[in-house]
Amino acid sequence: MTGNILIVEDEPKLASLLADYLKAYGFTPFCLYRGGRVIEWVKEHQPDLILLDLMLPERDGMEICRDIRKFSAVPIIMITAKVEEIDRVLGLEIGADDYICKPFSPREVVARVRAVLRRVKEHKENLQLQGLTLDEDKYKAYLKGHELELTAVEFRLLHLLATNPGRIYNRQQLMNRIYPDQRNVSDRTIDSHIKKLRRKIEAIDPDAKIIQSVYGVGYKFENGEKK
Ligand code: CA
Repeated sequence: MTGNILIVEDEPKLASLLADYLKAYGFTPFCLYRGGRVIEWVKEHQPDLILLDLMLPERDGMEICRDIRKFSAVPIIMITAKVEEIDRVLGLEIGADDYICKPFSPREVVARVRAVLRRVKEHKENLQLQGLTLDEDKYKAYLKGHELELTAVEFRLLHLLATNPGRIYNRQQLMNRIYPDQRNVSDRTIDSHIKKLRRKIEAIDPDAKIIQSVYGVGYKFENGEKK
């Protein structure tokens, strides 16, 4: 497995240990030691995965993670020593894909990196099978080769549903994930985004019922398997 991995970690020894391990397994690691320039760096270099420490000088990992989610779905693994303070679920609610608690073995980190990248790759392949292609770097979605021209919110919504096919999300869960800054949005906001999303999908393929309503619960992505 290959890929560019950004390590954001303010303990240089730990960062270089992780970098050495990742290199040994075929990855290309890059290290940043402070939180301040991460967003810029990610926009410029578009890494394949980010290992993001929670406690950092200048900006903390949570804030950075939320900000990255505004423009990119790049896989993020949070690294935290604050096991008690941070609700593990919260780590996932801010849009991270996985988390690792300190102290950890570098071998475990490599295993997690590989698992997350494998999962992402499988999702991409699945999505392409259904005629849907999501370009996470550019926030663009294509159905059967036609661009859907989605807003950032619609893209995030479709991406979340599509990367977890079959999983039912209620409106609150969707709001938490789509609006990481917890802006005040109502249930109806989600419904209206879903409606627009469906309209755009159906404009290209009237038979593509890929976003399904689950009565009284929420929404799910139909993975296209015939029952
Ligand atoms: Ca730290």
